[in-house]
Amino acid sequence: MRNLIVPLLLSAVVVLVVLVALDTPVSAIAAAVVTLAGFVTVIIASRDSFERQLQTLARKTRGRLEGIPPVTSSEDDTLEEVATLEGAIESLHARLAAQNAQLTQEARTLTAVLDGMIEGIWITDAAGNVVRHNDALRGMLQPGGADIVGQRPLALIRNEELHEAVMRACREGTSSRLELTLEGLFPRTLSIRVTPLGKDLPGSAAVFHDVTELRRLEKVRKDFVANVSHELRTPITAIRGYAETLQSGALKDQEMAPKMVEIIHRQSERLSELVEDLLELSRLESRELQLKIAQVPLAVAASRAAETVKPKAAGKNIHLELHVPQNLVARGDERAVEQVLLNLLDNAVKYTPAGGRVDVFGTLEDGRCVVRVKDTGLGIEPKHLSRIFERFYRVDKGRSRDMGGTGLGLSIVKHLMGAMGGEVKVESQPHVGSVFVIFLPVATPEAASG
Ligand code: ADP
Repeated sequence: MRNLIVPLLLSAVVVLVVLVALDTPVSAIAAAVVTLAGFVTVIIASRDSFERQLQTLARKTRGRLEGIPPVTSSEDDTLEEVATLEGAIESLHARLAAQNAQLTQEARTLTAVLDGMIEGIWITDAAGNVVRHNDALRGMLQPGGADIVGQRPLALIRNEELHEAVMRACREGTSSRLELTLEGLFPRTLSIRVTPLGKDLPGSAAVFHDVTELRRLEKVRKDFVANVSHELRTPITAIRGYAETLQSGALKDQEMAPKMVEIIHRQSERLSELVEDLLELSRLESRELQLKIAQVPLAVAASRAAETVKPKAAGKNIHLELHVPQNLVARGDERAVEQVLLNLLDNAVKYTPAGGRVDVFGTLEDGRCVVRVKDTGLGIEPKHLSRIFERFYRVDKGRSRDMGGTGLGLSIVKHLMGAMGGEVKVESQPHVGSVFVIFLPVATPEAASG
């Protein structure tokens, strides 16, 4: 507007000076009045234009806020002030848009990181209401279709200790760590750390770490150590007891002494078997055992295993027969396959009463080598079937021990079969007998060189 006012004022003054110089004061006054009237008209017109341009600018700015792209003005008489203001608004808008894009990007990254975590996380406001959480937390709490956001900790997990920890973090800014077990269809043990968000940020954060598997493994390890100690203690106690009895005079007892020495011998053998089995299992579990994968003729492996148990079978008058075709060749480790068959045959003979029979059948089924070790023994009740491959699990502890069992044989079988890419299954009927079935890949020509 300054552009118009200055020339107009100047021209009014010039007209006045010229007319005064020409000595025509009345005309000068009239001219000046006319000029001033023009000047006022221009001012009014300029004010209208200024207002109109400001309104257009306000409309454009509102449009930008609503995401409507800017339209370049068709007016070429845009006032300088309005143009400057528009430029300032435009650069402010551009800066805000860039900051907004960066914040959106950061928020997306944060969400992706939170949802990618195995640990569950929730964030609460100062009052302890959950305001944000990640996917893992939903998996842990399984709230069905219910919303987690907006809930209080107690409504999500019925645990006073957790509730107190969250409130303490919100009110006093203290951190705490706790562990709790969620009951239900799939019980879970959660290790939880609750921390305040920070000085200028009211609220708290809780990180949930699922330690169910960890605690289960700890229990397995503790049980295993307890089992091993117990298993070792039994023969050691017997050996020590009989040795002491012999020392304190029984050695001279012609009738009792040989019996006691026999027991000591049997128990020491049991001890050594147990240690051997434990070492084998530990080698298998630590993957120290290097398997030599090659072609394994199953008839050969079965007959070698059968040779070892023959004396025992003969002693119980058990008929042992092999039906494994010569051309049935599996892909596996020769020593491991023999060990598996030996363990299964040893059990079959062990748990079959005198006069029974044990048969080994070999076939090719669905492109896999299958060997069935079938006995007419005690059989196993269905409730035990899923557990007999566990370490130290026995259907009848007393009977197994009396028969020299360590409770580790089937567990070794399962590990060996797994290591060779095969599997073992069992079918059994109490008082009728059991069939242990192993599956192995068929040998391929490359296996020979492997
Ligand atoms: P064990 O040294 O006690 O025989 P295993 O791991 O070899 O240990 O077997 C685990 C349990 O499975 C045995 O204690 C026994 O109760 C049962 N079992 C294994 N094989 C047979 C079988 N052929 N007939 C009946 N029960 C069996």
